[in-house]
Amino acid sequence: MKAKESIYLSKSLFIRGLQCRKSLYLHKFHPELRDEVSEAQEAMFQSGREVGTYARRPFPGGIEVPYEDLSLEEQLNLTGEKIKRGARILYEPAFSYDNVFVKTDILRKARQGWELYEVKGSTGQKEVYLDDIAVQYYVLKGAGIRISKASVVYLNKQYVRNGDIDPSALFVIEDVTQTVDRQRFVADEIADMRKALGKRVPDIDIGKHCTHPYDCDFYGHCWQHIPEYSIFNLDGRGRVKPFDLYRQGIVDLRDAPKEILSKKQNIQLESFLQKNEYVNKVALKQFLDSLWYPLYFLDFETFSCAIPAFSGTRPYQNIPHQYSLHYLKRKGARLGHREFLAEPNIDPREELAGNLVSEIPDNACVLAYHASFEIGVLKDLAASYPRYRKKLQRIVENVRDLEVPFRKKAVYHWKMNGSSSQKYVLPALVPQLSYEGMEIGNGGMAVQAYFRMCESQDQSEIEAIRKALLDYCKLDTLGMVRILERLREMG
Ligand code: SF4
Repeated sequence: MKAKESIYLSKSLFIRGLQCRKSLYLHKFHPELRDEVSEAQEAMFQSGREVGTYARRPFPGGIEVPYEDLSLEEQLNLTGEKIKRGARILYEPAFSYDNVFVKTDILRKARQGWELYEVKGSTGQKEVYLDDIAVQYYVLKGAGIRISKASVVYLNKQYVRNGDIDPSALFVIEDVTQTVDRQRFVADEIADMRKALGKRVPDIDIGKHCTHPYDCDFYGHCWQHIPEYSIFNLDGRGRVKPFDLYRQGIVDLRDAPKEILSKKQNIQLESFLQKNEYVNKVALKQFLDSLWYPLYFLDFETFSCAIPAFSGTRPYQNIPHQYSLHYLKRKGARLGHREFLAEPNIDPREELAGNLVSEIPDNACVLAYHASFEIGVLKDLAASYPRYRKKLQRIVENVRDLEVPFRKKAVYHWKMNGSSSQKYVLPALVPQLSYEGMEIGNGGMAVQAYFRMCESQDQSEIEAIRKALLDYCKLDTLGMVRILERLREMG
């Protein structure tokens, strides 16, 4: 029993254990089974660090207890020493109690005791943050620190940058003191986690907890028995509860019970069983008749930052830095192409908006894939640049969504595997056009490449990235052209 009680835990291990005891166990004893950290996740961690730095500004003059180069013991000693010497604000102070180690983002001395601030890079409050603070509360209280107030600090999604960042307006500070003093709950969970860690790998099957509250990084390991075409790929939900089916032993798509499937799901199942494509000619014609010439195919690439990078932008606002535009001036005309890619490290929006409105005629039908995204970007541009507003609004009115026939199941190919996204539709309908072998193969990679281009000082590297970005975005709109051609053949 003693040995189990002494198993070391930290704040992040506690949160992991709350989500799934198996994840906690695997993290401790089989870290080699974890999924690889993607470049996009790395960027998210980096963004979290940036948010943390800005969040300190309303609490100036604090003393930092750094992670780097200090052992846990040294961090604890340094924290104790600073408090003893009368420090009033600490960044990342370390505490331990009951062999649970925590670092607190910001700790401020007030008249009644210490105020604890947990900084998050999101734009709203979440249930899991309360657990995060509850374990800190438990440890700090146990370590003899009197907490008078506990708060979550997160980004204000209404904040619009105007010149320099105003940290007091950028963040929302929400007092959660009343909900985080849960000593019994935390102590019981810790005891149970240690019990789980002292045995064999917990017998926990996959479930909704694999993606809630966080995407688990053992997903690849635990889900490897699920085939590529499974009940988890059924389009929409309706009466189908995939985990209920799974628990009844139904996993493969071909075993899905037809009688409980929706109409769209039955189309998906039938197409899969027959390995063919389904076409509802009436619905498809309706869609094709809604298009006209001149016909423009538009795709934006954007990036977003937790801390607004430019005046007039909000946290996580999509900033367009690139577009590709294929066009057909009339039926049977030669396919034309225009494109734009901003120079690195500038606010790209005004130049991009100016180019775009000069290239798309007012009377053009503008086709986008998953058009709500393009419409959102166009509306933001219209709000920011009054001189282009009318033309941008006209473009918005003329946008049509190429995803519609797939979302409505007017057309379905079995290889789409329940998805209407272009990444599934294109290879299913136009297999000769592929992202395979391209230096940039998806939107996430494109964003990271753009950031790399912004950081690079090497002209040849910048040129190589530019070319890869242009090739990628061009393929997106060329893909739309080819998908529309296939739809017309089917219609
Ligand atoms: S993938 Fe799911 S079952 Fe596996 S460790 Fe993670 S949360 Fe637990």
